Amino acid sequence: MKASGTWFPVFLDLRGAQVLVAGAGKVAARKIDALLAHGAAVTVVAKEFSAPVRRLVEDGRVRGTLSPFRPEHLDGIALAFAATSDPAANRSVAREARRRNIPVNVADVPAECSFILPAVVSGKDFTLAVSTGGKNPGAARAIREFLSDRKAEIAVRIERGRRRRGARGSGGKVYIVGAGPGDPDLLTVRALGLLRGADVVIHDYLVPEEILSLAPAKAARICFARRGKTAGHGSALKQAATNETMARLARAGKSVVRLKSGDPLVFGRGGEEAEYLSAEGVPFEIVPGITAALGCAAAAGVPLTHRGLASTVTLLTGHEADDKARNAIDWKRLPANGTLAVYMGVSGAKELTRSLVEKAGFPSDTPFAVVENGTRRGQRVLRGRLADLSRLVEKAGIRSPALLFVGKTAEYALAGRRDQENIEERNDGPVAQSV
Ligand code: SAH
Repeated sequence: MKASGTWFPVFLDLRGAQVLVAGAGKVAARKIDALLAHGAAVTVVAKEFSAPVRRLVEDGRVRGTLSPFRPEHLDGIALAFAATSDPAANRSVAREARRRNIPVNVADVPAECSFILPAVVSGKDFTLAVSTGGKNPGAARAIREFLSDRKAEIAVRIERGRRRRGARGSGGKVYIVGAGPGDPDLLTVRALGLLRGADVVIHDYLVPEEILSLAPAKAARICFARRGKTAGHGSALKQAATNETMARLARAGKSVVRLKSGDPLVFGRGGEEAEYLSAEGVPFEIVPGITAALGCAAAAGVPLTHRGLASTVTLLTGHEADDKARNAIDWKRLPANGTLAVYMGVSGAKELTRSLVEKAGFPSDTPFAVVENGTRRGQRVLRGRLADLSRLVEKAGIRSPALLFVGKTAEYALAGRRDQENIEERNDGPVAQSV
């Protein structure tokens, strides 16, 4: 605002307004066209009319007065433009208009104007007006061109804004939303929009307070699962309670955000919940999130694929669920030349190591990296060789949530967060080291 401080930007509704244009040359004709396009009732006064202006008068679109300007031409006028080729005539239009408190614009003479015209970019849904206070029309034009070249991008942004408002979610629906690995900055824009518009948030124990607090204070928060108590019979009961609650609240017209850590469809039971809602006829939508393997890989600098080292990534759970036979991992088929990302793997590290070495045939000196609290406060990275996994995990006191990478890529540490702790095996045993 500073640069054009004296000019107050405003958009006028000119439909039906009486507007006087003094002059009928090229500049005046341009003004007349713009005024007509905005619905103004235009009177043009000039000693002679150029051909285009004469046509407008003959067509009855503009009232024409063939005469030098006289003060009474301003009678009943709401807005005036002086655009003759005679500076003295323009000046007298300006003086008389000001005397009558009629806003007046003198083409190319800001000093005699009581209002000036901005450079304008119009899109389907917007009008951008740019002004340098009349001091630098070239700069205003340059900015207009810049914006004009970016109309498509502006349209996309407007659409995104609309979707974001829409992203607030509608009532009577369940949004199964991935919250990412824990850092609020790693939420998707859609997840954030839905969270901000939620009536109810039903969340996992893994979703941190920093993310939950983004929901409105008045939104109800429900958490059925407790830390460390997610397995077994209790879990089935909790799942039933979660399902019923989601359906009941959505039917009551609420915007229900079912918030899951990481991605809802990766070891998150999002699939089961979607199946339930679908069977119950409750509208739902799945919003993806950054799964722990991706978040932890980036945070610890482990490339999940790497030319020559790993051409596959396998996401698996180290904690086989309720029904072992059905969920059993086919250890013999795990790709050996890739990266394994093991969810829920640390509590059963001993058993897991045995399966990987004995059943899957991984060499016991295969590198591993455990990322505890990936992307969250207190992130720690523990590195070593598979044979030492359970000993090192125990020694370092690694707790859930932790994700285990196994494979040659696990040796890499391409990125280090300042606030993370790295624990590496040395000859003298594991050493904790802050970076
Ligand atoms: N749906 C989630 C996974 C839920 S299972 C996702 O896509 O990420 C829970 C397991 O995910 C944890 O036991 C842990 O292995 C892993 N996990 C989730 N968040 C994590 C984090 N911030 N750091 C490390 N591991 C995490």
